[in-house]
Amino acid sequence: MALEGRNAVVTGGGRGLGRSIAVVLAAHGAAVAVWDLNAENAAETVAEIQAAGGKAVAITADVSDSGAVAAAAATSRADLGPVTVLVNNAGISNYVPFAELTENQWDRMIDVNLKSQFLVTQAFLGDMLEAGWGRIVNISSSSAQTGAPSMAHYAASKGGVIGFTKALAIELAATGITVNNVPPGFVDTPLLREGFDVPEVAKRLPMKRPGRPEDIAHAVAYLASAEASYVTGQTLSVNGGRYLV
Ligand code: NAD
Repeated sequence: MALEGRNAVVTGGGRGLGRSIAVVLAAHGAAVAVWDLNAENAAETVAEIQAAGGKAVAITADVSDSGAVAAAAATSRADLGPVTVLVNNAGISNYVPFAELTENQWDRMIDVNLKSQFLVTQAFLGDMLEAGWGRIVNISSSSAQTGAPSMAHYAASKGGVIGFTKALAIELAATGITVNNVPPGFVDTPLLREGFDVPEVAKRLPMKRPGRPEDIAHAVAYLASAEASYVTGQTLSVNGGRYLV
C-alpha cells in the first residue's frame, strides 16, 4: 500500500486512533499533517513519525471552527504541498440520557463530529480535483449502526458521517476521488477508557478483546491507497464482529 509522494491530513491525530492512523500512513510513505486541538499531543505524534524516519508536521486547530480550519489548511499546504489524502478522525463522545440532553450538548457534538468533516473536506477538495486523485476516509462509529443508550447526539452525528460519505462518494465518483467511512467498534483508546471499563466491555465482544488502534489504522491505510481505487461510498466495519453489516 504505497503512499509515497502523497500528502495526508489526519485530524485528531494527537492521540488514540488518529495517532495510530498518522503513524501507519507515514510508515507507508505519506507526509502527514497531524491536526489536533492539543498541540503537545500532536507534537508527540510527529516526534514518533520522525523517529521512525517519516515526515510529519504538527498543526493546532479546532476542526469545528471554519476560520481555524481555513488557517490550518493553508499551513498544511504551505508545509507539505497539496493534500490528497484526508482522514476525518477528530471526534468527541459523552453519555447523556436523552431527556437531559441540552441544545448546547447537541450542537457541540454535531459541530465537532459532523460539521468538521464538511469543513475540512471542502478545504482540500480543490487540491484533490486538481490532482484528479484523492482519498477521503471518514471515521464514523459502530454506535450509529447499532444505536446506543445515552448517545442519541453521538449516534446522530456519526450516522450523519455515514450519509455524508455516501452522498459525497457518488457526487465525486467520476473525479478520481474516493470517499469511504470506517466505523470502529470498541477500540482501546483514551476516549474509550473515559467512558467504559475496557476489560468488562471486552467480555461482551465476539473476539473477547477490544480493538487496537492499529486495527483501524491498517483499514484506513488500505482505503487511502492506490489499490482501493474501485472502492467508494463504503462502510468498512472494523469491529471484531460486534455488528455485522
Ligand atoms: P480520543 O479522544 O482518544 O482522540 C481524539 C482526538 O481528537 C484527541 O486527540 C482530541 O484532542 C482530538 N479532538 C477532539 N476534538 C477536536 C477538535 N474540535 N478539533 C481538533 N481535534 C479534536 O478518541 P479516539 O477513541 O481515538 O476516537 C477517534 C475517532 O474514532 C472519533 O471520531 C471517535 O468518535 C471515533 N470512534 C472511536 C471509538 C473507540 O472505541 N475508541 C469507537 C467508535 C468511534
